[in-house]
Amino acid sequence: MTSAATTHRDVHGSAPEGVWSAPGRVNLIGEHTDYNGGLALPIALPQRTTAAASPRTDDLLRVHSVQTSETVEVDLGTVGPGSPAGWAAYVAGVLWALREDGHPVRGMDVTVTSEVPLGAGLSSSAALECAVGAAASGLFGLDLLGDDDARSRLATACVRAENEVAGAATGGMDQSAALLCRPGSALLLDCRDGATEHVPFDLEAAGMVLLVTDTRASHALNDGQYEKRRRACEAAAAELGVASLREVDPAGLDAAIDRLSTDELRRRTRHVVTEIERVRQAVAALRADDLDEVGRLFTASHASLRDDYEVSCDELDVAVEAAEGAGALGARMTGGGFGGSCIALVPRDSADDAVTAVRAAFGARGWEEPTCFTVTAGGPAARDA
Ligand code: ADP
Ligand code: MG
Repeated sequence: MTSAATTHRDVHGSAPEGVWSAPGRVNLIGEHTDYNGGLALPIALPQRTTAAASPRTDDLLRVHSVQTSETVEVDLGTVGPGSPAGWAAYVAGVLWALREDGHPVRGMDVTVTSEVPLGAGLSSSAALECAVGAAASGLFGLDLLGDDDARSRLATACVRAENEVAGAATGGMDQSAALLCRPGSALLLDCRDGATEHVPFDLEAAGMVLLVTDTRASHALNDGQYEKRRRACEAAAAELGVASLREVDPAGLDAAIDRLSTDELRRRTRHVVTEIERVRQAVAALRADDLDEVGRLFTASHASLRDDYEVSCDELDVAVEAAEGAGALGARMTGGGFGGSCIALVPRDSADDAVTAVRAAFGARGWEEPTCFTVTAGGPAARDA
């Protein structure tokens, strides 16, 4: 019996009817592009969030989190923008969004536990939403894991939960990654039309590893900064007369930038347009087994996020520099920024040195020791038991 199932029995008084899980993600490249209709390239992590669940015949959600040691009760009739407050919004919001879509969802007893660290830029929020959404699909016969079209509809419901109920203005990359990624592949996600392609991502044969550093620097996407970036992109698109910054031709970027009214809008636009182009280049480089080029693109992406988009922080910059100094081909912050995690593409033989260098750099500054681990591309949300 899984630990979620064991805890479920203790908390809710009977064994769960089923157990579902969904992965966290790291985005290889394509940051802050999803809400601009752009391209992103996430992989699913081996780390997952698990939801043990049973259906109820009333409209009560009773959800326990092993991470917060709390059990929260929510009447589904009271769920809406800003309600409930706190982490239960990510759970209740999914059931609410599915009901909004006309699905016959009732209350549930749920127990969640996560291997994805919370608030580390590795998408514990979408892993939570998608694990709960997968559970609701299974318990109420919604068949939303059957094929990629159905999975995309579930992803949309999970995005609504995060945007409208939890109040975090994130794009849709995280939920698509949790539901659509495949083992051994990165997911090329076109956020303009939802098209996806699976790009082989297997570093083992090349003698490389992907090293994740969770800086443990604080990170809150709903503190307004993320929303501010999103609104700046919308303002820039409006000034340029396009539906989204995706429509800006990279070849005409300088001319487009000259037409913008403020330095802030110019820099935000330059990040988004060049970052979308870097995703295309990274996919081509991966397909050509040119990992040196992938590393260079990581480093260019980080500089753009740091200087033009201004979503990095000292901890991320130091982790990136230390990894590069210890032999990484390239490194970058991943996720929304303002703390969270960085990824580095490192020759396997240099991985220990890179970890030592990152830890030493943090220690020298008196910062808490970061958590470093290597990851491979895992699988999407699924029923486990
Ligand atoms: P990230 O998605 O990068 O981890 P977010 O700020 O988007 O960071 O989401 C983190 C929030 O999601 C947490 O603060 C908490 O509210 C909620 N959350 C995620 N996983 C869990 C969990 N297992 N138990 C309770 N809350 C969770
Ligand atoms: Mg999140």
